[in-house]
Parts: sequence; C-alpha cells; structure tokens
Amino acid sequence: MLSLQFKKMLNRELTQLSEASRSGNQVSEFIASTFLGEHLPAEKKNQPMSQISGVKKVAQTQNLPPVCIPRFGVKTPHESLLAQEIEGINRWGLDIFKIAEYSGGCPLTVIMYSIFQERELLKTFKIPVDTFITFMMTLEDHYHADVAYHNNIHAADVVQSTHVLLSTPALETVFTDLEILAALFASAIHDVDHPGVSNQFLINTSSELALMYNDASVLENHHLAVGFKLLQEDNCDIFQNLEKKDRDNLRKMVIDMVLATDMSKHMNFLADMKTMVETKKVTSNGELLLDNYSDRIQVLQNMVHCADLSNPTKPLELYRQWTDRIMMELFTQGDRERDKGMEISPMCDKHNASIEKSQVGFIDFIVHPLWETWADLVHPDAQDILDMLEDNREWYQSMIPRSPSPPIFEEPQGGDKFQFDITLEEEEENEEEAESDPETSQQEELVFEPNGDSFSPSLSPDPNKCFDLLLGTQKAFMSPSWFVVSLGSQTKNIAA
Ligand SMILES: [Zn+2]
Repeated sequence: MLSLQFKKMLNRELTQLSEASRSGNQVSEFIASTFLGEHLPAEKKNQPMSQISGVKKVAQTQNLPPVCIPRFGVKTPHESLLAQEIEGINRWGLDIFKIAEYSGGCPLTVIMYSIFQERELLKTFKIPVDTFITFMMTLEDHYHADVAYHNNIHAADVVQSTHVLLSTPALETVFTDLEILAALFASAIHDVDHPGVSNQFLINTSSELALMYNDASVLENHHLAVGFKLLQEDNCDIFQNLEKKDRDNLRKMVIDMVLATDMSKHMNFLADMKTMVETKKVTSNGELLLDNYSDRIQVLQNMVHCADLSNPTKPLELYRQWTDRIMMELFTQGDRERDKGMEISPMCDKHNASIEKSQVGFIDFIVHPLWETWADLVHPDAQDILDMLEDNREWYQSMIPRSPSPPIFEEPQGGDKFQFDITLEEEEENEEEAESDPETSQQEELVFEPNGDSFSPSLSPDPNKCFDLLLGTQKAFMSPSWFVVSLGSQTKNIAA
C-alpha cells in the first residue's frame, strides 16, 4: 500500500518535472521507466501526440509462407481477367477501375505487387513477400472505401502512373533503385486515411488534424504519419532489411514527395520545374543529367505531382469516371458545409456547378501548364500524353452547354459566370501590362467570355501569362473555382 502511495507521489512530481522543460521530461521518463517500471507518458491522459489518429487494428493476412501467396497478391475468383488487365501495367491508360473490380477491391495491393515484381524490388531490397502483402493490405485498408475519389483506386492509379513516368526514356537509368522504391512508396501512401474533405474544410472546422499540424499541409502530413506508422504494425516493415542510411534517405525522399502533393504548393513546384527545363543538361545518350539531391528530388516531386494530376491525360472513358468521382466527393463536402451553416467551398455546391467548364479551366490553368513543362523536360517522350490531354479538353469544351449554361440541379441565381471571371477582371484593372498587350487581352476576353463556346484550343491561355496572373496576387487565388476540381484541396492559402 505504502509503495503505491509513494509511486503516486513520485508520479505527481515527475509529471511536474516533465512539464517544466525538455530535459526535465527526459529525466522524468528515465526515472519512471527505471524506477517505477512504467512508461510515464502512458500514465498521462490527453496525449495527443502519442498516437496517430486513423491507425486501426485490422485483421491481417496471417504470416503466409511465400508459396501460399496468390499470383497477384490477393485471392480473387477473376484471376484470368485480372491477368489480362495487368498486362497493361507499363502502359499509360491502364484501366484501373477494372483492376479494382477483378481484384475484389484491392487494386493498390495488386498494382504495387505487380510493379515490385516487374522491377525486382522485392529481391533488391530483400523484402519478404508475406511482409509486403501484409503491409499493402493494411495500407489499402486505411484508405476509406466510402470516399468517392481519394480512395485506394486513386492511390493505385497514382502508383501506376508514377511507374510509367519512371520508365520514360529520358529518365531510364537516371534514378537509383532506392529512389524508385521511394517514389512508388510515396505514391502508395500519398492519400492514405483521406477523409474526403479538403485541408481548408479541416481548418475551418477546427478539426483535430488541423490542430495537430497547425493548419500547414494538414492532410499531407497526416498521410505521411499514417503511412510510416503502419510500417510498425505486425509483419509490416517492408524496409526491415535496408541499411540505416538507406532507410533514412528513403524516409526523407518520401516526406519530400508526399508534402509536394499539397496543391497549394503547385505554383512553386511548377516555377522550379520551368527553371530546370530552361537550364537542363542532357547526357550523350539523351538522358537528363541530375547530379545533386536538389535536382533529383525536384524531378521526383514533380513526377508524383504529375501522376496525382494525371486524370485529364488518360483515355476519356477513364477521365470521365474520375471527374464523376471528384464531383461526388466535393458535393458531399458541400452538403456538410451547408448543414453546418458554413460558406460552401468553390465547386462544392451541387445546386450551382458547371462541371464541363471547370474541367476546361482546370486543364487550361493547372494541368496543361504542368504537363507541358513535364513534356519539355523529357522531350519528346510525353507527346502522346499531351495530345490526349488536348483531345480531352476539346471534348469537355464541346460539352459545355450553349449559353446560358443550365445548372446541374436547378437555376442558379447569379448567371453562370466563373468566379474566376471576376478575379481576372479585377486583376486586369491592376495590370497595365495586360491592358497594353493586345494578344493577352484578346485571350482573356475569349477565354473568359461567359458564353463558353468561344473557348478554342489555339486561343487557350498562354500558360506563362496564367502563371504570372496566378502567382501575381493572393486575390488571384481566392476564387478559381475549378482549381479544386481535381485537387480536393484548399484554395485560400494557395499563394502562401
Ligand atoms: Zn492524390
């Protein structure tokens, strides 16, 4: 009894000591663990940092001997159909939705397993196959099946797109196996435990996550934390046989890549990549010369970012499915905002949205400038991708209803202008340059005319001009409603 009282008293003292300073904390932890046989932090309540939310215990694959691992990593009655689809693993435009269907809802595990086998990464990094499958199933299970867009199918799509981009001729022997491993792992975890709402929504609702990460790249930090935490689950450490130095390097690269998927960083990365294109060095066999960490990680960051923004570059039937899904997710967020009496975020109001115009604007201002720059970097490897993007833009352009554009559900109250119209008009007033340049004035007039049928490919906005406009002021970022279309991200901090 007395020892219990002493323990309690000492615990109280140690708590005070640990709260007094960092060194006090270390001392108290040492004393508690050495002399009380317990770990002090576990004794305290309200330890928000001691646990990463969203990590759950799941029924894991038993430690199967390698011989029991199914051909594609998961058991499925559609193995031959799956085999047919997987044949396109190295192709841009693989039908990831069919893979999701034929794999019984495990596209991420199947895609990662196929790519790791194709690239012999299991052998190179001595990853036990049962550990790999256990980790992948656990990771896949931490994507939310009830989120329409940011789910395991999107993750599988980004992994497969990254895999194809890594094989582009201009980069063929540029990256090390460790860098390839990092890029694929980053793609696989990059949206894990996504709740289906944007960073801005999490910030506006004072969510636990926004508090945890002080409003900075809230989701991206969370995806990383969950992704790395899951490696610590039973039989999940796929990097167990890497040397410490390689593990550390890999972790740094993965963090850099996943944080770069925060869409509010888009303009910074695009600017850096444009600079790189202007100064690019090519080896005698036509490959890019990247001789320092900063250049190498920059290309990898942009590659994963491109893969994350690759929906409009895929065959139209796939692109349209992605558009349906992102709209569903955004409208669900909009419904929640309406229910809470909050201002409804751009593109999230199902009663007032123009999906086709949004896609055209999204391509013109974000996706095309990005892919055009990527295509310059790896010229001429990405020409087909760029052509597909332009064809898809034409299709969405042709689908914009003739003026006045009918709303999806009911009549809008204030005409059908883009919110972006207003921003650009205001911008123009402040920019004498735009006034004095007849070419750009004409472009803006044509592109942003409310009657959408004046969009035309030859008159699509000059990316550099858009780039300047978008970088110009915070205001320019306040209302490009299309921007969130495929981003599911916040817009207001975009210039930060
Ligand atoms: Zn994503």
